[in-house]
Amino acid sequence: MMDPLAIRGGKPARSTPLPPNYPGAVLMGEEEALAAAEVVKARSPFRYYGIEGRHAVETFENTMAEKLQVPYVLGVSSCTAALITAMKALGIGYGDKVIVPAVTFMATAGAVVCCNAVPVFADVDESLNLAPGDLERVYDEDVKAIITVPVLGSPCHMVPILEFARRHNLYVIEDVAQSCGVTYKGRTAGTMGDIGVFSFQMNKILTSGEGGAIVTKRADLFERAVRYHDQGLFRQKERYGIETDETAAFTGQNYRMSELTGAVLVEQWKKLDFILEGMKQRHSSIVSRLRSELPSIRLRAVIDEEGDIGSSLGIILSDAGTAQAVAGALGAENISAFTLYGGKPVYMLPQFFHQRTADKDGFPYNYPFKNPVRYTEDMCPRAVDLLARTLFIPVSPLLGDQDEDEIVGGLVKVLVGLNVLER
Ligand SMILES: *Cc1c(COP(=O)(O)O)cnc(C)c1O
Repeated sequence: MMDPLAIRGGKPARSTPLPPNYPGAVLMGEEEALAAAEVVKARSPFRYYGIEGRHAVETFENTMAEKLQVPYVLGVSSCTAALITAMKALGIGYGDKVIVPAVTFMATAGAVVCCNAVPVFADVDESLNLAPGDLERVYDEDVKAIITVPVLGSPCHMVPILEFARRHNLYVIEDVAQSCGVTYKGRTAGTMGDIGVFSFQMNKILTSGEGGAIVTKRADLFERAVRYHDQGLFRQKERYGIETDETAAFTGQNYRMSELTGAVLVEQWKKLDFILEGMKQRHSSIVSRLRSELPSIRLRAVIDEEGDIGSSLGIILSDAGTAQAVAGALGAENISAFTLYGGKPVYMLPQFFHQRTADKDGFPYNYPFKNPVRYTEDMCPRAVDLLARTLFIPVSPLLGDQDEDEIVGGLVKVLVGLNVLER
């Protein structure tokens, strides 16, 4: 006999909630505190000059470049800023369309609109990531780029996506915000397309509260990114060995990274391998135990097992009602489980669905495209279906063996106890 479910008055599988779902933040400590204090003591919180400048952002960029094996990394104020800067570097703007997966955070699509281009949404497959087979449906001659998004730590099917992009002469931007450290066939996510963007916001794998980065192998794109993020300026020509002058300037923004952010990120990057190792091992151990205890369990498909960083466990249930019932029962067991983005594709958010912007006359959606962009609820049926019935359970780098036992035990108890699965 199994213990009664906590929702029915039984003893919860765990006595306390799981660790907070912030892999980088839960490991913040004295190192980050000292690094930030150094910047303050040096009275030099700005990256390009100061009183006794510590060059923390530069150190962070060099660390990340080394880790990712890319020549150019630029720290910026957020991943949203990084996405906008990436598209500006690529010259994407009014009259262009950009393919965005139906499952992503609103920033991916929002950045496209901010660049005065229009997002068109491609469906996902059972990996919850962009389905290469749906690209053809949304492609037309106004499409200039594809943004790939490895959602919650699991890689995208990059070979067919890159192949499609090459065939149609499209840029590929990898939005790796949620998935720092993910690889695909041994290549690091963020380094396979033309530009990769990262987030260091609180929720992400590494964090400084806010922050982002742009990586690219191309000097020309890097120069444009630097200029756009810094009011059109290109400082530190010697550092990069890029020859350029004011004739190359264009209007930019201020998306610069603060030295305080850079200092914290230098320390966070030292912890990445530990975070990834912890999550990966724990995740694969939980997965193999679940598969042996519940042979019919259906997990989120993984495009490349080796490349998944294991930051979350995705369980696909039969329907949305079951997913909600399971989430409720797991919550009572002190195992938090959630459907991603309220269970809805990103294009169902009212600002996208109704094409509302802060601008006049429906700009930029008012461009006279040959194929006008219209969104309908069912245009990406796999995303609609899978998002509503996939439950995610975060896997923290802090989980211990007892946590693992309780998660596996709690999942078996709930899924069997609610008659969702058989042992
Ligand atoms: C969080 C996130 C962003 C935005 O990152 P910020 O640093 O908060 O601007 C962009 N894309 C995806 C996929 C994200 O998850």
